[in-house]
Amino acid sequence: MIKPSRQISFHPCQWLLDGLEMAFGGPPALRLTPLSFCRLRNIETLSNLFRSVLLLSPDDLLCCVYLCLNQLGPAYLGMELGVGETVLMKAVAQATGRQLDKIKAEAQEKGDLGLVAESSRSNQRMMFQPASLTVGSVFKKLKEIASMSGNSAMNKKIDIIKGLFVACRFSEARYIVRSLAGKLRIGLAEQSVLSALSQAVCLTPPGQDFPPAVIDASKGMSAESRRAWIEEKSLILKQTYCEMPNYDIILPVLLKEGIDQLPNHCKLTPGVPLRPMLAHPTKGVGEVMKKFDEAAFTCEYKYDGERAQIHILESGEVRIFSRNQEDNTSKYPDIIARIPKVKKESVVSCVLDSEAVAWDHEKKQIQPFQVLTTRKRKDVDASEIKVQVCVYAFDLLYLNGESLVRQPLCRRRALLRESFMEVEGEFTFARSIDSDSTDAIAEFLEQSVRDSCEGLMVKTLEKDATYEIAKRSHNWLKLKKDYLDGVGDTVDLCVIGAYLGKGKRTGTYGGFLLACYDDENEEFHCGWGCWCVEA
Ligand code: ATP
Repeated sequence: MIKPSRQISFHPCQWLLDGLEMAFGGPPALRLTPLSFCRLRNIETLSNLFRSVLLLSPDDLLCCVYLCLNQLGPAYLGMELGVGETVLMKAVAQATGRQLDKIKAEAQEKGDLGLVAESSRSNQRMMFQPASLTVGSVFKKLKEIASMSGNSAMNKKIDIIKGLFVACRFSEARYIVRSLAGKLRIGLAEQSVLSALSQAVCLTPPGQDFPPAVIDASKGMSAESRRAWIEEKSLILKQTYCEMPNYDIILPVLLKEGIDQLPNHCKLTPGVPLRPMLAHPTKGVGEVMKKFDEAAFTCEYKYDGERAQIHILESGEVRIFSRNQEDNTSKYPDIIARIPKVKKESVVSCVLDSEAVAWDHEKKQIQPFQVLTTRKRKDVDASEIKVQVCVYAFDLLYLNGESLVRQPLCRRRALLRESFMEVEGEFTFARSIDSDSTDAIAEFLEQSVRDSCEGLMVKTLEKDATYEIAKRSHNWLKLKKDYLDGVGDTVDLCVIGAYLGKGKRTGTYGGFLLACYDDENEEFHCGWGCWCVEA
């Protein structure tokens, strides 16, 4: 029986990463294993690592999860390492005694600085062998790097990175560099990490003494019931994470109370952004009618702006988050200033789902999305705002201490309209019609385009009409003018340049420079396209 070690070495994680990479590495044409199978195998491998951590050193579970996700904390806090590629190359050069331009050239050729760092390790000369890296120590150093700012920060960051390199063994340097560059590339996205985590706590329950009584709680179950059982528990973790996307809060509860108790301890909270519900594309009104069949639904304008999740906290503070949970509070002081005017007194705390759209106050009309993108992104001074925005509210997800995500849209919409007041050009409810007439919907779609919108969002109102966090749900369908059969423009473009690909696109092209020909002036006009063609 192995004795519990109190620290998880970075090294087993590195083996795990090697294993995961093998499933995903190599040019796409050589990949013979179906991706879904790879994904299941990777989840199994990762869950086995988590199970070992649960038994040997549960306190390290949080670092392991964050390291797998290549994150330093909850995404909405936006913690960043602030280490650019050049700094990283400098650190590799200094730690290995190689020349910077050689490192640069090799990185260009291999398309992966991690591989360069790994192969450069043999040049290191050391008086004594530093202590092995542990997940805890690596994660602590990464956080230290992220917290540094000011004049000498860059040199201090390089020193820490050098310290990490020197202690690296085997292929650890590859993953340290990739983590620092934000390109871990283990082929596991967050949903898979969540699946692995729930599988781990199901099979090897946390909080056991050593030696553990239960190593595999699924023993004796049929494969089918094991899968169903793990899926059911996994849903609890995934739903909890959607409402409270913070492992710092979830993991201690998971370890102490178990997976079933998560919903009672980690709840939707104003101030913490939840992942937004998304829509499925459809090609026309006919398809919408077929999909929704008998269900009651509403059609709303699909505004072309930026999603704004507006949180009003009990303290009166207002926070605004983007579709990707970035904190946009300092971008929209104008929206914040108008909240007291548009919210009714009964509202103490709430979470609103809305679209912030550029608005022309003189012409009283919506402006294109491109106008909105010219707005400053951070620390906006309200007195200097040139691009005005109107908020189009379309959902209410939380009100006065109660989560509404499991309520049907008709209820959420009624509460939204009861709780807020419209002010022209500042705060309006999304324009909508509740009709099942194909003609009325087709006319509303055309009207939405004339009113500078992208098309319609069609949403179930009563049955199957809960707010499905983080899902591209079939309960919301989008009807964009660009998708409609027979609608949409095509343009003739000419490729006039290309970037050399990096990472897995090494040896192929990355982005292309495309241009269209202007007959009148006999010249090309260009912009960056993002099509990727493998050479
Ligand atoms: P794409 O996948 O084409 O980039 P998208 O970014 O428009 O699509 P979708 O899932 O298609 O995302 O549409 C949802 C987005 O539409 C939301 O994130 C929101 O910003 C915007 N939106 C505008 N009006 C509405 C509305 N009435 N209801 C819901 N979302 C709306």
